[in-house]
Amino acid sequence: MALNYDEIVRKYEKYIFQTYTRQPIAIKSAKGALVTDVDGKEYIDCVAGIAVNNVGHCHPAIVEEIKRQAEQLIHVSNLYYIENQALLAEELAGISGMDRVFYCNSGAEAVEGALKLARKASGKKEFIATEHAFHGRTRGALSVTHKEKYRKPFEPLAPAVFVPYNDTEAIRSAITENTAGLILEPIQGEGGVIIPSDDYLKEVREICDDKDVLLILDEVQTGFGRTGKWFAREHSGIIPDIMTTAKAMGGGFPMGAMLAHEDVAANFVRGDHASTFGGSALACAAALANIDVIKKEKLVKRSHDMGNYLVQKLHELNKDYILEIRGKGLMVGMELSIKCEDIVADAREKGVLLNCTSESVLRFVPPLTITKQQLDTVVSVLNGI
Ligand SMILES: *Cc1c(COP(=O)(O)O)cnc(C)c1O
Repeated sequence: MALNYDEIVRKYEKYIFQTYTRQPIAIKSAKGALVTDVDGKEYIDCVAGIAVNNVGHCHPAIVEEIKRQAEQLIHVSNLYYIENQALLAEELAGISGMDRVFYCNSGAEAVEGALKLARKASGKKEFIATEHAFHGRTRGALSVTHKEKYRKPFEPLAPAVFVPYNDTEAIRSAITENTAGLILEPIQGEGGVIIPSDDYLKEVREICDDKDVLLILDEVQTGFGRTGKWFAREHSGIIPDIMTTAKAMGGGFPMGAMLAHEDVAANFVRGDHASTFGGSALACAAALANIDVIKKEKLVKRSHDMGNYLVQKLHELNKDYILEIRGKGLMVGMELSIKCEDIVADAREKGVLLNCTSESVLRFVPPLTITKQQLDTVVSVLNGI
């Protein structure tokens, strides 16, 4: 027997850690850019599982491949060779410009791997990260995550210094003989969809080359077409030493990866790092199907086009509380002069799911398959608030 909303919430209150602030709906099913709650109410989803469902919810090709693979092989561990890992690695090298991949299961785990690799490769201990950066909640990833509220109760963390984002001089002066690497997002996601100036990453790359510091690009949120490129690094043309990705990698199935340049990757030798579930046959099948859908449906280009359309429509909104609209592809932020909580609640009532980040930035990261009509509806709902 299916539970109703209240019954579900009661069990959460009794049995589940109270670590999340959840929206007051229980989602039952989803398809494309639409999700349906347990009461049968439908919503246009501009959150997409936090920039995860780039190909849309329950894409038939991914569902089919997960079913097929589940009947063949789900998991055997990395004590053996798995065909799907080999096929996926070659695909990832092709779309990312990186040489080697280490498979894991989440963004934070990819960041942990990146930090460990940078320490081993450099023989140094400290990291430089940026203000408002978000890299995950495990201890290593948290040590380079900026928000005081996330960090404070868990200190001491690993040594890190924070410099303002989009400020190359600050990076130059923060580098010391103990600096193992610099980690940053090509566009800050949780920090409020912050887009750096066009030449920022190029200059960062030059500084890192110049000072012999490893550059880790965290593409966990920006990967797999989200910003109108396969990976956001392409906007600047740079190649990092180490790259992390996760969120949209498996088409909704949990999957992450840490990728590196050959000379850096060579520093990890047998036994240096591992993950029981990393790169399971099932996860790799989902990721392969996901990449295939993105290619076949030309979703990278679509992200670029629909992102431009959304930004243009948002600019037509005549609201005095809108401070700035910024975006690359379908990673769009609308900064408000007020907290966005109430707008998120109103939009939800009217059938649109939105996410608020940094308290006053409405973040739009819908499936890349979202239609113009759906985006029109989203904007008209905002117009009516
Ligand atoms: C979401 C996110 C992470 C953490 O990913 P999890 O899968 O939640 O561990 C790390 N880095 C960035 C840039 C992210 O957006």
